[in-house]
Amino acid sequence: MSQMPPHYPQLHPSKRILMGPGPSDVPPRVLQAMSTPLLGHLDPEFLTLMDRNQEMLRYVFGTTNRLTLPISATGSAGMEASIVNLVEPGDRFLACVNGVFGARMREVASRAGAQVHVLEKPWGQVFTEDEVKMALAQIKPKVVGLVHAETSTGTLQPMDQIGPMIYESGALLLLDCVTSLGGVRVDLDAWQVASAYSGTQKCLSCPPGLAPLSFSERAEQVLAERKTPVQSWYLDLSMVQSYWGQERTYHHTAPISMNFALYEALRVVCEEGLTVRHERHWELHGRLKEGLAALGIEYAADPNHLCPMLNAVHVPKGVDDLTVRQFLLQEFGIEIGGGLSEFKGKVWRIGLMGESARVENVALVLAALKEALKYAG
Ligand code: PLP
Repeated sequence: MSQMPPHYPQLHPSKRILMGPGPSDVPPRVLQAMSTPLLGHLDPEFLTLMDRNQEMLRYVFGTTNRLTLPISATGSAGMEASIVNLVEPGDRFLACVNGVFGARMREVASRAGAQVHVLEKPWGQVFTEDEVKMALAQIKPKVVGLVHAETSTGTLQPMDQIGPMIYESGALLLLDCVTSLGGVRVDLDAWQVASAYSGTQKCLSCPPGLAPLSFSERAEQVLAERKTPVQSWYLDLSMVQSYWGQERTYHHTAPISMNFALYEALRVVCEEGLTVRHERHWELHGRLKEGLAALGIEYAADPNHLCPMLNAVHVPKGVDDLTVRQFLLQEFGIEIGGGLSEFKGKVWRIGLMGESARVENVALVLAALKEALKYAG
């Protein structure tokens, strides 16, 4: 049978300004790093790069944890790796759910065979120390899953008290830092976090494709003392660590170009310095908030716990969500996000993440929104 081979046009994506919930804009030098020729994944030069990526990840995570590495998959794989390595069938897992990603943790833990208990808060609110303390006393979970920056609602969970309190209770704290890492302070050691994970495509301003992850010594010990094998072969951290650690035992083929990109993206973060980077995110969030208020646009989350890099705001009454987002994309090349699940059609999510968090972007999105609101009546 002879068939004509399919023919498609050359790839030529339109220019965009990515101001949604991720991915964010990527600096040209990171894209350039991605397009350099490959090394073999066990080439001594690549092994050195793997070590350096781990060192820089320890810096951004605020930790000295030995087991700190990028999982070769997106943020959700970081969540899944954290859960399946810490949870054995029948273990009690407390999922703190105040948005889409807490709910995803609940689902993943349940599929891993955990006995899942849920502490729920309305969307847009965070958990207080007392609420978590009470749940810990009642449920006595092995693992507590918490989201630092809930991308579906734009809340930032305070961690300074809750983290050490969970540690003192004897439970393992599993923290989602997908949206927070590289944008606001993340301090795993001070917060006594057992396991944390992130994604590359948000405030690290690298394309999506890797999930930075860190396990504390205590979490490593829990992993070493498991009675049952980790449910997932690919995400079994004892094997993944043997690949990333001294042994360099082949487990899978690390995505070379993604690791080149992460290397360059982390160098950008280190050159700026975390303190300056965090201040930049807060300062631009302040400017955006002022501008949105002037347009009569209100935040969807508790004003005391707003997340600077993800600004979730109510779609004004009488305005069609999609009309405005399409206008922004077509007329200005700006992408902002719509709401998820119960916020669908009701909320816009304006991201100020990493490279996208720029003063000119704030001015542009405000001006463009003003036009879009006029257009949408
Ligand atoms: N957790 C949070 C808080 C997120 O915002 C996301 C993605 O937006 C994820 C987990 C899942 O990450 P990914 O889409 O990279 O798999």
